[in-house]
Amino acid sequence: MPKNPTLDQRVEWHIEHVKNCQCRPLAGKILEEIKKRKIKI
Ligand SMILES: [Zn+2]
Repeated sequence: MPKNPTLDQRVEWHIEHVKNCQCRPLAGKILEEIKKRKIKI
């Protein structure tokens, strides 16, 4: 994760993360963004 990630970068990071690891379920703003963008995980 970059030091000052943009929302885009955060969303991407979380998507990649959740593919490899379930330590943090997607929630809050990130989950809203993913739904908004109709990204399938
Ligand atoms: Zn993790």
